[in-house]
Amino acid sequence: MTKASGSRTLHHIGIAVHSIAESLPHWTEGLGLELVSTDDVPAQGVRVAVLMAGSTRVELLEPFGENSPVAKHLSKRGPGVHHMAFEVEDCQAAIDGMAAAGSPMIDDSPKPGAHDCKVAFVHPKGMDGVLTELVEDPHSTDAHGASTGGAAHD
Ligand code: ZN
Repeated sequence: MTKASGSRTLHHIGIAVHSIAESLPHWTEGLGLELVSTDDVPAQGVRVAVLMAGSTRVELLEPFGENSPVAKHLSKRGPGVHHMAFEVEDCQAAIDGMAAAGSPMIDDSPKPGAHDCKVAFVHPKGMDGVLTELVEDPHSTDAHGASTGGAAHD
């Protein structure tokens, strides 16, 4: 029933930073983005500052420890765009769909993300060098208008 279609929404862009405290003013006071929350996501080894640029979400990612994938990114490449995340209806189904399409997964099953999201990362080698995250967001506001109103029937 759930098939990859043209209706995928960009959920957020993840940016690796050494220090949220040092980086945040550039994005909020300078650029004018709104800070929504700062959350620790132990499963990913990061602290996440969630910023809104209109309806587009930007996440600053500060690593917890040296084993964090973001820490590895920072030591290899320095700060910068780390991944792009796309919203999916069902994380496991999206994982299966990526695997069926021949894209290797980093996560074969959904992991806990920020804000009770279920997330899984697709290996960049299958996505033209872009680390790609699949996000099942229980708080999705359905901004793309796929269904409106409370009780959808179909
Ligand atoms: Zn992310």
